Amino acid sequence: MKDLKSYIRTIPDFPSEGIMFRDITTLLGNPAALKHTIDLLFGHFRNDRVQMVAGVEARGFVLAGALACRLGAGFVPIRKAGKLPHQTIEEKYQLEYGEAALEMHLDAFGAGDRVLLIDDLIATGGTAGAAMNLIDHLGGDVVGAGFVVELPGLGGADKLRARCDKVVSLVS
Ligand code: IMP
Repeated sequence: MKDLKSYIRTIPDFPSEGIMFRDITTLLGNPAALKHTIDLLFGHFRNDRVQMVAGVEARGFVLAGALACRLGAGFVPIRKAGKLPHQTIEEKYQLEYGEAALEMHLDAFGAGDRVLLIDDLIATGGTAGAAMNLIDHLGGDVVGAGFVVELPGLGGADKLRARCDKVVSLVS
């Protein structure tokens, strides 16, 4: 198995000029790399008695769904505002320019449930922080957070580590 990093491609100037976009669709499209990714995440969280895996739209869904299946846990979608059909709670967060919001179903899990947060990538940590706030608001016990990629220069993963004991990223 090659280094996971070699399955991730970089697209310059996407979605806007000056941004180097780390594209994991190439990793997801490779059967061995996808399996290895899920195996690694499973190895990190297998003993944490995870009951629910919360994935952030959209690439986080793919990883969280596969991992939930491996862990014997349920899946919870965290989506951009206005996408979930039932009653939701909302958490706003800052983007470089402006504001965004994430939502989760009010009845996604019960208070005290052990919830693992999964996304493809952590950069500034704004998205993961807002997702963690949603889990907190429902009384979930955040057992950890897992990402395929961490962009270390932006400090998001370190910020998250200050509020959660177990923050795992596979590629830095
Ligand atoms: P943050 O909120 O700044 O940590 O950005 C992380 C969120 O933006 C995640 O939901 C990622 O899917 C997305 N994101 C930001 N930069 C990239 C990238 O280079 N590749 C893929 N997703 C990214």
